[in-house]
This record gives sequence, structure tokens and C-alpha cells, in this order.
Amino acid sequence: MLDKVLIANRGEIALRVLRACKELGIRTVAVHSTADRELMHVRLSDESVCIGPPSASESYLNVPAIIAAMELTDANGVHPGYGFLSENADFAEQVENSGFIFIGPTAETIKMMGDKVSAIDVMRDAGVPTVPGSNGPLDDNHDRTLALAKGIGYPVIIKAAAGGGGRGMRVVHNEAALLKAIHVTQTEAKAFFGDGTVYLEKFLENPRHVEIQVIGDGKGEAICLGDRDCSLQRRHQKVIEEAPAPGIPGEVREAITKACIQACKNMRYRGAGTLEFLYEDELFYFIEMNTRVQVEHPVTEMVTGIDIVKEQLRIAGGLPLSIKQEDISIKGHSFECRINAEDPTSFLPSPGKVKLFHAPGGPGVRVDSHLYSGYSVPPFYDSLVAKLISYAETREQALVRMQIALDELLIDGIRSNTPLQRDLVRDSEFQKGGVNIHYLEQKLES
Ligand code: ADP
Repeated sequence: MLDKVLIANRGEIALRVLRACKELGIRTVAVHSTADRELMHVRLSDESVCIGPPSASESYLNVPAIIAAMELTDANGVHPGYGFLSENADFAEQVENSGFIFIGPTAETIKMMGDKVSAIDVMRDAGVPTVPGSNGPLDDNHDRTLALAKGIGYPVIIKAAAGGGGRGMRVVHNEAALLKAIHVTQTEAKAFFGDGTVYLEKFLENPRHVEIQVIGDGKGEAICLGDRDCSLQRRHQKVIEEAPAPGIPGEVREAITKACIQACKNMRYRGAGTLEFLYEDELFYFIEMNTRVQVEHPVTEMVTGIDIVKEQLRIAGGLPLSIKQEDISIKGHSFECRINAEDPTSFLPSPGKVKLFHAPGGPGVRVDSHLYSGYSVPPFYDSLVAKLISYAETREQALVRMQIALDELLIDGIRSNTPLQRDLVRDSEFQKGGVNIHYLEQKLES
């Protein structure tokens, strides 16, 4: 069983994990860089250890320092949050080889899902729909590649197997540009990710981003906690998420749920995970799986009543899933607005001292944030400073509650994207539901 957990992250997710640990009576160790001594979860944790200078590569990504902190404090588990080391198979392996519990899937699963080509293979075998494509890496048989792309039809997209964070992808609109684009993507992928493997798939023109939350017990049982729509994005960064995804026909939802559960059972998936899909014309197309808790997990918690982080901790401690699939029901609707310390029009980061922070409240409002009045947002990390989450019986009501909450939110001293969010939740197309992944960027350009 887990009795002391080291939280290998910072900001709002570190605080989120700390709260879940406290609920379960698990002691906590915060690790932080020299720039993060004043973080809320560092103040609230049972113990804290400084693991290095501000630069993430020397602190939050410093595997020896984190493992040493576990030894020093006698922690027996580590929660990686999202980002940083959360999808690093080598880290998971080193943690387990040192005799500690990694709160997440096995290193083998992380590796398998981290390689998009092998991830797609696993999904296809389980009956999860994937994007029509090369079904494997491209080789140097150019004639075959050209014939393949022709068969699929242009535009196509070339993607690095090891890609991530929106990098290592290239859209090709016609045959004349194909081979060059493959070559360039291979070269880039080799330089960025140390692996030049690329594959090809159909480029979907106007899809939505719909993802499915799953949890597995690592022994072959798995449950699905429904879907989320995260189509409102800028530069592949999600801005507003909601659950459930609006307008998905019941039978389509049922089929994808079943296939996702099967995939997790097949790989004896352990912990929380998300299968990401593009969704177009009532069809789902798998693109990748994230083997960790996601930023937007709260909207699923609101509509299912299941605490995903507590579930992660329970499973890592060897306990069974706390709920059966037939007992899961989706009730009501939830939105999440990401509040970033950035200029609302130029999107330039805006670190600095928060003179005054006032969090909204009232029925159906949840705020996940590490901010407090007097806290200084350091310039070294991701700009996410708060997640505003609303819940109500209906989508319309949840949106009204979000409007009110955003109007109440006060962050003085630094700039934030709150004005943009206030605008977006009043946007008539967004209010209708079902905008595609290009909607926000098109709106910002106009
Ligand atoms: P990453 O791991 O870098 O996030 P993904 O495979 O999740 O890469 O793709 C990131 C984004 O790229 C998607 O959310 C989508 O906007 C776009 N994309 C990826 N594959 C396709 C595709 N086949 N058709 C259209 N857009 C795509």
C-alpha cells in the first residue's frame, strides 16, 4: 500500500495530487526547484525537498535527484502529474527498479503508447478505429509510398512515430510534394526525438478533438469514464474542455466506449489514461494515447462523480477499481477554462507577482489553482495558473455558471487570458456546441 507519496510536479496538478493523498491518509513529499519554494503544495505537504535550480532539466526532469529525494524521505510511491516525467518510460523503469511504486502504467506500456506506430497497432487489434494510413512506418520504397498516398487520397499527413507536443508533423496536399515532405519530416524527427521513423495517414480537414477517459487495474479489468470535447485549441494547446462531448449519437458513443475498454483490457492497462481521437462525420479516428492524468480530467470527475486521482492512487497501491462499468453514469455537463498567465491578445507569458487573487465560488463551481495573493508566478514553466471548472444539469446552465465564475475571477498584478475566456464562453458558435479544432484560430485571425 502507498503510505508516502512524492509528488514529482509543480503548480495546480501538484496541489491536486496532494489533496487526493490527504483524503486517502497518504503522507506527502513535495519536491521543488529553487524558484518554487513558495508554491502552495510545498507549504501544505508533510515534507519538502529542493531538487535543483529553476531550469526544469535540472530539477523537475532530474531523475537521480528525484529518486534520491524518495530515498531520503522514505517515500514509497511517486506521482508524476502531467508533463515533465509523466510519460518517460525510463523514469518509470528506474523508479520501479529502485523498489518504489510509479503511479501510472508500466514502463513497457508507456513505451508502447509513446511510439505512435505501435500504439496504433494495439488499438487496431482491439477494434479501435484509426485513421486510414500506412499502418506502419514508411520505408524507402517510394513507389509503394506514392501509391499508398494516392489510394488514401490527398491531403495526407506525415507524422513522426516518436512525435509529441504538436511537433514532427507535416501536411501534404499533392503528390509532387510527398517525397520531399517525408524526407524533411524524417530528418526533423531524427533531430528532435532521436528516431527518424515516420508514418502517413489521411489528413482530416475539419475534425473535432474528442477523447475518452479510461482507468485500468493492471490485471485486465478496465473502465471507461466517458468522453470530453477539447476542440477549442490554439497552436495545439487546449483552451476550453467539456464533458460530455456534445452531439455524439448514442450508438457511436457505445461502440467507441466498448472498443476503448477492450484495448485497455488487452494491454492490461494500469492506471488512468486517455485515448485521443479526431471525430468527423460521426466517426472516431484514434490518434494517440496519453498514459497519465490529463489537465482536463476534472470535467470527467464532475459528470461521473469519480475522483480520478484517488483512483490512480488506489490502483498503484494494489487495490481494485472502486467502481464497475455498469455503475458509471454520466450526469449533467461540465466545462473547464484554462487560465494562463499570458497576455490575452499577444499570448506572451506574463509572469510576476500576483497582488490579489480572488477565486469564484457558488454552486457548481470548482477552482483548481495554486495561486494566492502575494504569490509570484516564476517565468520558467508552463503558464497555466488556474483551472475554472463549472458543472450543472444541462450544458446551457453549466455555461452560464462559467460566465458568472469568469466574471468573478480576479487576478491582479499579472496579465491572464481571462478576458479571452469571458469572450469565448459567450461566443454563439461555441454555445451551440461541436465547433472543430480550427474554430478558435480562425476566430482569433478574423
Ligand atoms: P502530438 O503527440 O504532437 O500532440 P497528435 O497525434 O496528438 O500529436 O496530433 C496533434 C494534433 O495534430 C491533433 O490534435 C490534430 O490537430 C492534428 N492532427 C494529427 N493527426 C491528424 C490527422 N490525421 N488529420 C488532421 N489533423 C491531425
